[in-house]
Amino acid sequence: MIQVKDLRKSFGETEVLKGITTEIHEKEVVCVIGPSGSGKSTFLRCLNLLEDVTSGDVIVDGSNLIDPKVNINDVRSRVGMVFQHFNLFPHMSVLDNVTLAPIKVKGLSKAEAERAAKPLLDKVGLGEKANVYPNSLSGGQKQRVAIARALAMNPKIMLFDEPTSALDPELVGEVLEVMKELAEEGMTMVVVTHEMGFAKEVSDRVFFIDEGIFMEEGEPTQIFDDPQHPRLKAFLSKVL
Ligand code: ATP
Ligand code: MG
Repeated sequence: MIQVKDLRKSFGETEVLKGITTEIHEKEVVCVIGPSGSGKSTFLRCLNLLEDVTSGDVIVDGSNLIDPKVNINDVRSRVGMVFQHFNLFPHMSVLDNVTLAPIKVKGLSKAEAERAAKPLLDKVGLGEKANVYPNSLSGGQKQRVAIARALAMNPKIMLFDEPTSALDPELVGEVLEVMKELAEEGMTMVVVTHEMGFAKEVSDRVFFIDEGIFMEEGEPTQIFDDPQHPRLKAFLSKVL
């Protein structure tokens, strides 16, 4: 579903991703862990063209993102993304937030988009909140709207960048629960997270990134119970 070959990304003179090669399979849930500044967000953003790739290949659902002819909107509609800070439009109702992209990008009528949005809001437990504005929601509710909004494009892949890091601790669980359901339904997911419990329980594989390199990758039991690289051991001793 996603193939990454020698992915490099520089900002000016600074090389942030230093040759990442990996593969993510259909229906797989991969968690990306690593220290602050290691390149986790940059890696994720390279998977849906929020950053352009400096060199290497990033093949997502058959499209090589380094091909200048690749259609950004097409890629983004196949790859949904959820951010740490929700990024909802404050001046639009929950329903309008969810239907905006299907109307603008996919050309659905308002009625069609709203019909499709309702079950998604139900799915994230917010069927009753369709007509309220984001301001009146808790952080956990906002993030669940953001998930529904991403799902409204009917993506094949979902990227999550620390989706629970901005939440009060008691609201983390409700968001992780929605993500877990998605995983169980077979969504292909790449999740940058500090929630090691989620990574252990839900992911099929864990990638440990440090200084722009995938230092270690493996099944969660291997990564958490039998880490090999000293940097991974040091990282885990701080976060577990
Ligand atoms: P965190 O856990 O804090 O979110 P991260 O692992 O997601 O960190 P990135 O955001 O990918 O790290 O950043 C990796 C490095 O790239 C950092 O040194 C950061 O300063 C740099 N960087 C990221 N985006 C840009 C940008 N647009 N311009 C210049 N440098 C950037
Ligand atoms: Mg980040």
